Amino acid sequence: MLRQDNSARALGLVHAFGEASRAQLASWLGVTRTTAKAVAEGLVAAGLVVEEERAEALGRGRPSPVVRPAPGGPVVMAVELAVSHVTVAVVGLGTHLVTVQRERLPSSPAPDTVIGLIGDLAGSAARASGPLAGVGVSFYGAVRPDGFVLHAPSLRWRELPLADLISRAVGGGVPVRVGNDADLAAMAEARRAGDARPRDLLYLIAERGLGAGLVNNGVLVGGATGSFGEVGHMVVNPDGVRCPCGRIGCWETEVDARSLLRRAGRRARGDLQHAVAGVLADAGTGDDRARVALAEYTRWLGLGLVNMVNIFDPPRVVVGGVLARVLPAIAGELSTVVAQQGLVRRESPLPITAARLGEHSALIGAADLAFADLLAAPLGTVRASAR
Ligand SMILES: [Zn+2]
Repeated sequence: MLRQDNSARALGLVHAFGEASRAQLASWLGVTRTTAKAVAEGLVAAGLVVEEERAEALGRGRPSPVVRPAPGGPVVMAVELAVSHVTVAVVGLGTHLVTVQRERLPSSPAPDTVIGLIGDLAGSAARASGPLAGVGVSFYGAVRPDGFVLHAPSLRWRELPLADLISRAVGGGVPVRVGNDADLAAMAEARRAGDARPRDLLYLIAERGLGAGLVNNGVLVGGATGSFGEVGHMVVNPDGVRCPCGRIGCWETEVDARSLLRRAGRRARGDLQHAVAGVLADAGTGDDRARVALAEYTRWLGLGLVNMVNIFDPPRVVVGGVLARVLPAIAGELSTVVAQQGLVRRESPLPITAARLGEHSALIGAADLAFADLLAAPLGTVRASAR
């Protein structure tokens, strides 16, 4: 059991960071080099990793062999279903993106349209990659652990057996798992934050709408029904605008990409990130309307963030989507707001950083979800399917 546990943790680390030396694994797992060697050899025998001698010397002692994912090892399909696009990727162990395809979605697309598109993209991806170990789906909305969608106001979807529908579209009896995009992104970022164990953090992503994921004690906080993190619908401005959920003044109507564009008098169509970059550039050159729009945006972002920080007291905040793009321009002011209005007294400012995985946090989180069974029991599986 201990061997399986160490193997699972070792493979999880090789998957998260792409490679690890045997010496690193020994230190991360808290085991002797002899045990680390046995663990690595077990994973090699299972066809999951290879060990290579590092060419360059480390300066002292013998170089430690590097453990990497085996070429031709298992791959999964990761699907990211967002409001404006769907992305389908084939991902190997080591967080290796083998292929990535992205298609734009029409506004308020019917589920049938989206499922059909995913089926088409999955078909071409599977033909190029060979057998799949699983399918992981990142979904923009509240979803139960069994893959049943509860609601997605921005897509205008309610109560839908999404995992079953995608399973039928992909075919082949491959297991399909679905998770909330912010949850998957939060865990993907926490796993790759640089330590052997997931780092605790609050993850916030805004694009069309806003989502949050919280990792506490190394574990994702999920909520009783899978609806944790719908912070975008926290009402902050009773004098604000109507949200797709029907209420007035939800946080996301003040801090998603469209709200910044609305304040700056721009059209919120097409590539929102590109349009937001335009507002930032204009604010930087002293354009009054863009500057005021950005200041207002920062005020509402800070107000909601102070509430979140006061409630959850996270050790760090990681942001994605339009928040990551805007952050360099507002980081100082945002930190000041949190420091001045936060109840928690800190010795140093709360770290607020852009997502390490950039625009791929949720997609990689979906791949992690698809790999979950293999990563939990790497030696309990048969040799990786040949490609
Ligand atoms: Zn709302």
